[in-house]
Amino acid sequence: VCILAIETSCDETSVAIVRDGKEILSNVVSSQVETHQRFGGVVPEVASRKHVESITWIIEEAFDQAGVAPAELSAVAVTHGPGLVGSLLVGLVAAKALASALELPLIGVHHIAGHIYANQLVHELEYPFVSLVVSGGHTELVYVESEGRFHIIGQTRDDAAGEAYDKVARALKLPYPGGPHIDRLAHEASEAVTLPRAWLEPDSYDFSFSGLKSAVLAVLNQAGMKGIAFEPAAVARGFQDSVVDVLVEKALRAVQAYGAKQLLLAGGVAANKGLRERLGSRCAEAGVPLLAPPLSLCTDNAAMIAAAAFLKYRRGQFAPFDLKAEPLLKLEAWSV
Ligand code: ATP
Ligand code: MG
Ligand code: FE
Repeated sequence: VCILAIETSCDETSVAIVRDGKEILSNVVSSQVETHQRFGGVVPEVASRKHVESITWIIEEAFDQAGVAPAELSAVAVTHGPGLVGSLLVGLVAAKALASALELPLIGVHHIAGHIYANQLVHELEYPFVSLVVSGGHTELVYVESEGRFHIIGQTRDDAAGEAYDKVARALKLPYPGGPHIDRLAHEASEAVTLPRAWLEPDSYDFSFSGLKSAVLAVLNQAGMKGIAFEPAAVARGFQDSVVDVLVEKALRAVQAYGAKQLLLAGGVAANKGLRERLGSRCAEAGVPLLAPPLSLCTDNAAMIAAAAFLKYRRGQFAPFDLKAEPLLKLEAWSV
């Protein structure tokens, strides 16, 4: 079974061909990051236009790199939400055109289900598991009861983890996206600025990062007003320690409370070295198997969309050709 998948929910245009939901034959990712960098964030209008410019050659490139002919495909999959509506539409139109020309079934995929099932490309999953989803737009603890059955048990009440990273990076005058820069600085730091941790109610699995972001801004403002020199690395380290602490402790508590067999890390912030290290050592202590995708499969890519689509393919759950772009698509609504 060969599935061609298209991902255009934000600012990466990506097309992949994956065999049997596991073997990546090609996974072409074209990032628009240089285009958006000068605006300090993704500009939706510009993102859609860029997707239009690149989608056709990226599809061709995905076929070339895979050495697969169009006639060998079994289905076409596409992210139909959540994401930027204009960006999603470009992928949807391309996927529908391809599926209808090749007379193939169409499969709609939830972007976050893709991030979670990126793990399936490299690991054997055991249910039930808990997934810690940390990305540019989402921060969620998801209990996955069985294949494709999601229950969100906690989520951010304000900023997503990646969003907080990008905002703090901006305050530190680091380039967009700031996550990887803060991660690097935090590792170089010899000391850490002490910052608050938002634990919320004792039994809550929710997160909050806006207070932490404000605390960082307050430290920077104070330093600026008093003309005190500060170490950006120490701020980065303090911020990262605070984010990682809360993510790790809540994830482990969820694993234990729900009797999960594994903890799956997912989303762009899953590429964070500090988070991977701390989760790794806490899971080892607690005897919890931790799965994480390789760095290249943490950030947006279409191979993860093909992996999630394979679950629907096996069940014959195909989408109608009037499949809509759903900017606010709910994960629980996507269940297989
Ligand atoms: P969503 O998946 O919620 O729709 P998105 O697709 O825009 O959002 P991803 O591509 O999954 O987000 O992740 C991008 C985010 O990951 C950015 O906020 C970026 O700063 C962050 N990120 C990437 N690498 C790292 C890292 N090493 N440390 C921290 N954050 C990182
Ligand atoms: Mg992106
Ligand atoms: Fe994403």
